[in-house]
Amino acid sequence: MDPIIIAIDGYSSCGKSTLAKALAKELGYVYMDTGAMYRAVSLYIIRHNIPINDLKPKEIKEILNQIDIQFVWMDDKGISETFLNGENVEKEIRGKEVSEKVSEVAQIKTIRERMVELQRKAGLHKGLVMDGRDIGTTVFPNAELKIFMTADPEIRAQRRYKELISKGEEISLDEVKDNIRSRDYNDTHRKENPLVKADDAIVLDNSDMNHEEQLNYVLEALEGI
Ligand code: C5P
Repeated sequence: MDPIIIAIDGYSSCGKSTLAKALAKELGYVYMDTGAMYRAVSLYIIRHNIPINDLKPKEIKEILNQIDIQFVWMDDKGISETFLNGENVEKEIRGKEVSEKVSEVAQIKTIRERMVELQRKAGLHKGLVMDGRDIGTTVFPNAELKIFMTADPEIRAQRRYKELISKGEEISLDEVKDNIRSRDYNDTHRKENPLVKADDAIVLDNSDMNHEEQLNYVLEALEGI
C-alpha cells in the first residue's frame, strides 16, 4: 500500500499518542504530536509572561517567529522528544502549569494558523500518523484514515493520573479530573477549529480496550482502505 496519512483526533487523555506511536512504529511512519506543539508555545508564553490575549495578530506572529519547535529522535529511549528553541522541554510541557494554560492558548486563531501550516508541511510526503484535535477536520481533511478516540472520562482521568504520578509529578486525582474536564470543554467549544468528529472518522472508544486491541482495531480498519 502507498504511504498514507492517518489522522487521530479525540478527547484529552484518551491514549491518542500511545496508539499513534504504536501505529507509526508498526507501519514505519513518522509520528507527529500536535498537542506537544501547542504545549511548547504555551510554555514559551508562560516563561516570558506574555499577555497573549491582549496582543494583536501581528504581535502574536512576531512572537511565533521567535519559537522553534523540533521533534528530536532519542536513540536511548526509542521515542521523539519535544525541543523548544534547542532545549529539551518534553517533561516540562506535560506538567501542570502548561496543562492548565494550553487550551486557552490553543484558542487563538493566529497561533492555530501557524501550527496548522507547520503540520501540513510534515504531511507532504505522507507516511504520517498525526494526533490532535483538528487533524481530520482541518489539517488533513483528505486523510485516508481518520480515527476519533473517546473513552469514559473517569477511566481517562485514572490513566492520566497514574501516568503523571509515575513520572514524579505532584498532582491529585481531582486536579487531573478538573483539567481534563476543562480542556475537553474548551476544545469542543472554541470558535477556531473545535474538536468535532469528522464525518468520515471511525470512532474508537477504548474504555475497555488494551493497547494491543486498539492497534489491531486500526490495523484492521487499514485493510479496508
Ligand atoms: O494532545 P494534548 O492533550 O497534549 O494537547 C494539549 C492541548 O493542545 C489540547 O487540550 C488542546 O487544547 C490543544 N490542541 C489543539 N489542537 C491540536 C492538538 C492539541 O487545540 N491539534
